[in-house]
Amino acid sequence: MLIIEYLFALIIGLMAGNFATTALHRLPRGIPIYASSANLRPRCSYCSHELKFFEYLPILSWISAKGSCNYCGHKINPLYTLLETFGALISVLCLTFFGLTDLYIIFFTFGILSLLSGSICLTNHPPIKVVTVAIIVCGMLYKTLVQHDIIHWLYGLSFCCLIVLLYVSRKKAWHLTKKEVVAIHLLLPAILWCQGWWLTLYIVFLISSCKYCKIRAVEKNYFAIGIMLMFFIALLTSFMNMEFIQVRINQSTTRSEPH
Ligand SMILES: [Zn+2]
Repeated sequence: MLIIEYLFALIIGLMAGNFATTALHRLPRGIPIYASSANLRPRCSYCSHELKFFEYLPILSWISAKGSCNYCGHKINPLYTLLETFGALISVLCLTFFGLTDLYIIFFTFGILSLLSGSICLTNHPPIKVVTVAIIVCGMLYKTLVQHDIIHWLYGLSFCCLIVLLYVSRKKAWHLTKKEVVAIHLLLPAILWCQGWWLTLYIVFLISSCKYCKIRAVEKNYFAIGIMLMFFIALLTSFMNMEFIQVRINQSTTRSEPH
């Protein structure tokens, strides 16, 4: 039974990772994700040749084509295969931590969205609003499930939005620098995903590494590092508080059952 669950997690992870590669190519270029017409079928990013079904299977297509396009011979970006591999790893990790529960679905979705958001920035594009909003919505579901109320996270998020709004309105013509945009995309989800001292530590880390870290690789990939760090902090703290969370979920289920 356990093997079937892990196999399921592996396949779902690969499929989600594969979908994320499509989003990684299309979102920064403003191409719709859902292919409704013939010209939006999966294509080679370089020669635009339409791909056959077996040519866009996760990982297998990369191995069979030896890492290059079958038509133009251009080397396929290894980030695409890494995204599929990490998608599968995150799915298996979430299953190991939470089993096939609501938390698995929420954390797996958060993991894939973080991977996608981080990868978009690795390809030198700014964070995409729709992905950050999806991470925030996922965080709202998580907080509501764990805390069994809405008001606490709503206060926190509203307060943070107000501070951001006041800060942005002070800027001339609402013009934000690249660093400020990245900070907002990291801070708003962190209010929901990190809690207590972890949130303080995370914010201190973000500010200090932004101000004082002069390592070029860190500066360049600041957002990708920040978003993945947030995911792992949320994953580990949830796992450490698993018993407490389970009690809260059980209490809410008992309360909603008819007597
Ligand atoms: Zn090609």
